[in-house]
Amino acid sequence: MDSAKEAVENVAEGVKKMAVGDKPAKGGRKDRKKEKGGAAAATDPASGPLEINPPPDFLQKRLEMFDRLKKKQDEELASKPRESITITMPDGSVKEGTSYETTPADIAKGISNSLLKRTVIARLDGDKEQLWDIGRPLERSCKLELLTFEDEQGKQVFWHSSAHILGEACERRFGCSLCIGPPVENGFYYEMCLPENKPVMSTDYKPLETIVTSIVKEKQKFERLIMTKEELLEMFSYNKYKQHIINDKIPDGTSTTVYRNGPLIDLCRGPHVPDTGRIETFSVMKNSSSYFLGNKDNDTLQRVYGVSFPDKKQMAAYKKFLEEAAKRDHRKIGKDQELFFFHELSPGSAMWLPHGTRIYNNLLSFLREQYWKRGYQEVITPNMYNSHLWKMSGHWDFYKDDMFVIEQEKEQFGLKPMNCPGHCLMFSHRERSHRELPWRVADFGVLHRNEASGALSGLTRVRRFQQDDAHIFLREDQIKAEMDNLFDFLKEVYGLLGFSFKLKLSTRPDKYMGEKATWDNAEHMLQESLDEFKASNGTHWELNEGDGAFYGPKIDIVILDCLLREWQCATIQLDFVQPENFHLEYITGDDNETKKKEAEAKAAEAKMAPPAELAMPKIKTKDPQAVIDSAKAAVAASDPSTGPYDKDRPFVRQHKPISPGCARPVMIHRAMAGSIERFTAILTEHFAGKWPFWLSPRQILVVPVGKGFYEYGEEVAKIFRDKMMFVDVDTSGNTLQKKIRTGQLAQYNSIFVVGAEEMDNRQVNARWRDDQSTQDRGKPIPLDKAVEKLCKIRDEKSSENPFPAPAKEAAK
Ligand SMILES: [Zn+2]
Ligand SMILES: [Zn+2]
Repeated sequence: MDSAKEAVENVAEGVKKMAVGDKPAKGGRKDRKKEKGGAAAATDPASGPLEINPPPDFLQKRLEMFDRLKKKQDEELASKPRESITITMPDGSVKEGTSYETTPADIAKGISNSLLKRTVIARLDGDKEQLWDIGRPLERSCKLELLTFEDEQGKQVFWHSSAHILGEACERRFGCSLCIGPPVENGFYYEMCLPENKPVMSTDYKPLETIVTSIVKEKQKFERLIMTKEELLEMFSYNKYKQHIINDKIPDGTSTTVYRNGPLIDLCRGPHVPDTGRIETFSVMKNSSSYFLGNKDNDTLQRVYGVSFPDKKQMAAYKKFLEEAAKRDHRKIGKDQELFFFHELSPGSAMWLPHGTRIYNNLLSFLREQYWKRGYQEVITPNMYNSHLWKMSGHWDFYKDDMFVIEQEKEQFGLKPMNCPGHCLMFSHRERSHRELPWRVADFGVLHRNEASGALSGLTRVRRFQQDDAHIFLREDQIKAEMDNLFDFLKEVYGLLGFSFKLKLSTRPDKYMGEKATWDNAEHMLQESLDEFKASNGTHWELNEGDGAFYGPKIDIVILDCLLREWQCATIQLDFVQPENFHLEYITGDDNETKKKEAEAKAAEAKMAPPAELAMPKIKTKDPQAVIDSAKAAVAASDPSTGPYDKDRPFVRQHKPISPGCARPVMIHRAMAGSIERFTAILTEHFAGKWPFWLSPRQILVVPVGKGFYEYGEEVAKIFRDKMMFVDVDTSGNTLQKKIRTGQLAQYNSIFVVGAEEMDNRQVNARWRDDQSTQDRGKPIPLDKAVEKLCKIRDEKSSENPFPAPAKEAAK
């Protein structure tokens, strides 16, 4: 979820920074040529010399040590036994090779030169952990896959290798102490500390790119060397960050690897592309400051972000994508359309302006309609709970740092970051019968999460938000049917909004709570539902084995917007643990055996009604006395979920056995939109601010052609307003053309021009935003017809043109 978030943030910021720091396009080529020819000169005078001269001392010392140790290692490798090995390719074909001699590059070349050129990295034995430099000799027989940039791991290696190149350029330009250089969602960064803690400037981008170009041209080989911890500490003695990492990450008496390319030697597990010549095209995207190890008590460091591709066309496509994404940036559209803003006096909490609130409420109404249809019940629960509740739910131990905690009368309260514990209290508020299950409780309650101020960004990462949150309490055997319902829900919501989606099932991790049999059973039902959904809808799903939460398996739903960006909004999580923590139970009443026995027992006592009666009352369906007794016993035992909590007594987790005749429900956490704030951001970007009519905060603009028609204009507006539509009348002194243009820019779905003809015939002259043919000249529509059509498309949430040209209508 977060990576998608970051991706969009990066995207938007990348474009901004490009605009500030760089002037590509016109004349760019000429400048670049000059730089290439004239070594250190020819850059922006403000940015100083291209590289520091003389280079920092540590470069030479590092190289000397590397050469010495590398020579030794090469000799050792040369003495390794040469044996024949077999290399099995993905298609099953087998190649012959020699241990410590044959490289994956040899195999690739044997197939074709173009394959060799495209191959970024090799993977051995289908193991994601066993990536192998393609120039490194194989040591034994293995299965071999040759990965290209198109492969996710190949792409990561490509970008990680590019980070080394960026690191080399930074050392050469700044003489900085490098820290870490990982690949990220859309490229990579290198983090470093410049001498005298200077910041990186946007005027450094172009010089860095110039150095990178020369590094790429040199085709520097990436060379691997194994070094002991002591040797590493000596090699990186000039760099306190690397020292820290070596001391922290490498156990005493062990070794790890460094990689060299050109003058750069970097602590790294690898692997990398064979040489720097692979990086066909490279751009510095932005820079920012950060803290060493992400801890604000540590040194402030500088990060330079870049992106690279094996092909110039891919870079061009990527930059085009960034431009399009920047145009759609919800922060920009939110400002242009006056939807929301943020105030420094409440960071991370959006101020929803009237037009933004219209969208927000339209979304909630839409979800409420779905709830109505699908048997959900909406509830309202508190925002603030005593810490006792958060201890019961486990949030106090695992999530407290992300909560806002308030002290009141010497007790601690927490603002809720989630609704689940409150819903568990509701479930346990009285006895529950199996007849009430599945119990679907929906809550749009306001949630607060204490995000660090530096992490806040637009509507995608906020402190205050609402979710279309619901919890479903159900019997284990109801899981399958409920999943089918949820998939149908997903299909309807996302289908309507024009998103395609894919599903991921995460199963039991190594550490889990609950019974293994329960997990197996639940996973089996989830898989069955996923298979059926795939068969009927073609929706792809993949297995994420062992990646479930400790409390239950889950299904993550990733949606693809119209720029094919991935977003995770919806989630469906099974939970076996919260029902346990809150000692939830329901009266089963459907166990015929027990029922019979009890009926017999009761009949024997000749006190109670016959078994048929058991079906009647809502609550005490089954041996009422036993249940009541057990509940009383629980209260007497100060069961924390049912007994009065004692503020002077520390919380102790108690295990409460399930009462006779009862069973524990399973709980499903599910959201379709997730955070409404974030979902609105996604929708804003997805629609590029062109809201569909039913969701639109500006549905109709009435434009009277002159003062004489204001009255008719207002009358028209009132008719639509009475139908609960968002209508404005433009009575400004602007020209007709200007009024129409303003309405178009504000993305009104419909603009009704009214003049003499319209007034006399009770018509409007309609322009429909999504129909280009109506933009210069509208279409005359009878007023009552316009009302009828707009009500229809609003109520059907259709995105059809309500005022199609007659020809088109005939063609249909
Ligand atoms: Zn590396
Ligand atoms: Zn929940």
